Amino acid sequence: LPQLQPLTTVAAFSAALDAQRAAGRTVGLVPTMGALHAGHASLVRRAAAECDVVAVTIFVNPLQFGPGEDFERYPRSLAADVALAAEAGAGIVFAPGVEDMYPGAVVTTVHVDGLTEVLEGASRPGHFDGVATVVAKLFAMAGRCRAYFGLKDYQQLAVIRRMASDLSFPVDVIGCETVREPDGLALSSRNAYLSPADRRAAPALHAALGHGAEVIDGGETVPALVAAAMAAVVAAEPAITLDYAVAVEAATLVAPPAFRPGDDVRLLVAARLGATRLIDNLGVTVPGPIPTSPIPTSPSRKADAACAGA
Ligand code: AMP
Repeated sequence: LPQLQPLTTVAAFSAALDAQRAAGRTVGLVPTMGALHAGHASLVRRAAAECDVVAVTIFVNPLQFGPGEDFERYPRSLAADVALAAEAGAGIVFAPGVEDMYPGAVVTTVHVDGLTEVLEGASRPGHFDGVATVVAKLFAMAGRCRAYFGLKDYQQLAVIRRMASDLSFPVDVIGCETVREPDGLALSSRNAYLSPADRRAAPALHAALGHGAEVIDGGETVPALVAAAMAAVVAAEPAITLDYAVAVEAATLVAPPAFRPGDDVRLLVAARLGATRLIDNLGVTVPGPIPTSPIPTSPSRKADAACAGA
């Protein structure tokens, strides 16, 4: 493979993608914070399969880290990242410095209401404003493209989809399946922080999600009871402190009074192992016969049935 030279200035990055489109090529964009692993590589490979040229961005975004979080110690490995990106099919790497991305005081930010108030948003105040702002900037720099994000960060994907749609970016946002270790642990750059003992305990997060899915398959429809079943699996691991375990409607991240057959449910967990915070999630469809021809009894019943079928 030819050596890939990372671009560092916004002007060079924008010009490179403009030139690709001018030559008739479609662009795939894979935003990352570096410390790339097989999960990131899978996004790059998918982008390379669906687009003519793939640009990987590597930027540890200070705006999305809270005080006391791991911005300073977040793993940085640019040379290895460039090699992994190229190997997976990237033709362009953009690795700006903080001064390239934020040359002045940050007075303009992007806030997505609603979706950002719960779960990670509640645990990490300001986090999603930082994410939405940096991704909006990357979309503005990149121009028309398909942008690939991991379902691993499910709420982030939902926030970015909504931001791109509301702000009319010419970007198709695409969600990609989570890549896992053989024992179920979702790949994450933060797994590198785990002590050997914590690493052995960590698969309990994925096990909890699997158990939540089984409980739903077994007929449980009350979100709080599914959540309690997941929490119990995590509680069996003393090394893990649960932050949240929830079962919510996949589209809204809100728990309804009860799930109904055919509902798309998302199970999400966040937990701390020592000083390391990990998140994971899983999708599950509620089993059972889906009512196809609703009995028109009352207007509200009709409206409910229409929503379920949508
Ligand atoms: P990060 O650099 O960790 O912020 O992640 C960059 C992108 O890679 C995000 O869209 C993540 O959702 C995605 N990603 C991270 N871990 C995984 C994984 N294990 N499987 C698939 N995608 C992932």
